[in-house]
Amino acid sequence: MTGTPRIVVPPSRQVLADGVYEQIRAVIMNHGLEPGARANIEELARELDVSGTPVREALARLESEGLVSRLPLRGYRVTELLTRKEVEDIYGLRLLLEPPSAEAAARAMTPTFATALEEELATCPAAPAGSTYEGYKALTAHDARLHELILRIADNHAIEQAFTRTHCHLHFFRLSYNQPFGEQTITEHRAIVSALAAGKPTAARAAMTHHLETARDRLLSRF
Ligand SMILES: [Zn+2]
Repeated sequence: MTGTPRIVVPPSRQVLADGVYEQIRAVIMNHGLEPGARANIEELARELDVSGTPVREALARLESEGLVSRLPLRGYRVTELLTRKEVEDIYGLRLLLEPPSAEAAARAMTPTFATALEEELATCPAAPAGSTYEGYKALTAHDARLHELILRIADNHAIEQAFTRTHCHLHFFRLSYNQPFGEQTITEHRAIVSALAAGKPTAARAAMTHHLETARDRLLSRF
């Protein structure tokens, strides 16, 4: 950041905080800070040419996503990657929650919900190339939003919260991303959305089960 010309009008505090958060998140997702490494507030502030405050705020947000953990009196540490067992456990939870929710969402389908699902699909029409966070982060965010939207349509707040708390999209993509992985994801999402939009509960449930099982197996093959 050294040498960057100072802009005349300073960015708002929130814009700065979001930018610092995104930058540190990208460093962790790209393994610029390795799993287990210390995330030193002063060092990060120096590298990003900002004060300690936005860095502290960013680390607190990243802690809530499980990307860093707090060390008592010693700042933060980057969390380890998910283990094979943890991946299996999270998919076990998702397979309990999401296929019945897809079925419920199909029963609750309205033209407005169908449009919302189609619009969400349109935000990520193609799989990003490469394997860096900058490339795949749009797909990560879309994947999380689509699954959350289906749970919202199914209208069970407790299930939606249990799913959101896993931050599983972030952690799965942190383990592994490549373009074929992205293409398969998008194809499977289309199948889920077309069953939902057609108001077909059994087909929606089956498409969600298929998506979760194949996504799980794709990820487990990386271990
Ligand atoms: Zn998905």
